[in-house]
Amino acid sequence: MIPMLDIRTGILLLAFGNCCAAVLLLVHGVGERGRGSRLFLRGKLAQSVGWLFMGLRGLEADMLPILLGNGLLYAGFALESAALLRFSGLLGSWSRRFLIAVVCGVLAAQILVFDSPNLRQCLGGLALAFCLARPGFLLAFTPGGTTLRRFMGAAYLACAGALLANAAVFLLVRTEGHVYTPGADQTIAGLMLYLVMLVGNVGFVLLNKERADAELRRAATVDGLTQALNRATFLARAGELVSMAARTGAPLSLLMLDLDHFKAVNDTHGHAVGDDVLRDFSARVRSRLRPYDLFGRYGGEEFCVLLPATGAEAAVGVAERIRTSMPREPFRDLPAYTVSIGVATLGEHSTLDDLLRESDLAMYRAKAQGRDRVRLQRAGESEE
Ligand code: GH3
Ligand code: MG
Ligand code: MG
Repeated sequence: MIPMLDIRTGILLLAFGNCCAAVLLLVHGVGERGRGSRLFLRGKLAQSVGWLFMGLRGLEADMLPILLGNGLLYAGFALESAALLRFSGLLGSWSRRFLIAVVCGVLAAQILVFDSPNLRQCLGGLALAFCLARPGFLLAFTPGGTTLRRFMGAAYLACAGALLANAAVFLLVRTEGHVYTPGADQTIAGLMLYLVMLVGNVGFVLLNKERADAELRRAATVDGLTQALNRATFLARAGELVSMAARTGAPLSLLMLDLDHFKAVNDTHGHAVGDDVLRDFSARVRSRLRPYDLFGRYGGEEFCVLLPATGAEAAVGVAERIRTSMPREPFRDLPAYTVSIGVATLGEHSTLDDLLRESDLAMYRAKAQGRDRVRLQRAGESEE
């Protein structure tokens, strides 16, 4: 048997819990734009006032306070939904219109059926369920989601389901009564709303932390300007791949790339354009590599590419593909530019340091022979 909750107490607890979450967010300060924190805070404030209206009102059917409280409550859930969509980068104009339509449509319908508390209650359950269902689906079923996201999604969907069942009971089963009449469906819906309040409050903060952690990890491994691996990460990962290839005898090659006359690009067009050229260069190189090739910024305008399972001839082919992909004409406010590339291939006893030194030598040979070319350094050779 399900113990019956006192509905008014439950509603006041929801008001109190949402108010606490809003105060905590206010004290902590809402985070960066674009993460939905402001929407979430507004949603919590609106929900706490909406629940307060509902928890404190008398049993008589006064239209204004009822519609005001309901409106705040539905708007609060719509804002929470919008916050989760914004966090996932999915709050488009269609979603916005849908949420506004749900809130306004349900309030308008409640005015029409105001004399039927059961229908009012049923419509209210539908409004909340519609608001919760989309972020629930999104969190639960987006491929690659974390356990936290799936758990939050499941909680939102379970609550939406309980609210729909509750709405159906008010429509089909109950013949009389009001929002405070206890019942198993009311108790289950109340518990689910409480669960969603807790999961939403804690989960939203954890979602932000999860993203911030991922961004920190990325910032520690990737060069901010070009999105290539930074030097330390490139060398660490390349070192592992070179050791493994040396052990298994698999071929492996390293490219050393250096932009030609890059100082002149800065001097002629300014440092900002130089930065744009570096970004453009990095994007061109990455688009010509396989997912398991490593691309790193070795320093300044020098980059390295490590090509696993690639012998000398194939590596020269990759280097030529990269070289010929450089812009031959000025485009989109950027000047034409070229790159010189040195190629080195793993020999019998060579190490990553050997590969770096040999590819560097080859690259300087490419520079000396006129730039905008690819040169191959064979292990132990001083000339090609
Ligand atoms: P070379 O063809 O011989 O390689 O000539 P270079 O001018 O490319 O070589 P040099 O080493 O003389 O100059 C490299 C320039 O790259 C100097 C430096 O200011 C510029 N540079 C290094 N890092 C950055 C960066 O992050 N942004 C910009 N805009 N310039 C950078
Ligand atoms: Mg250069
Ligand atoms: Mg250089």
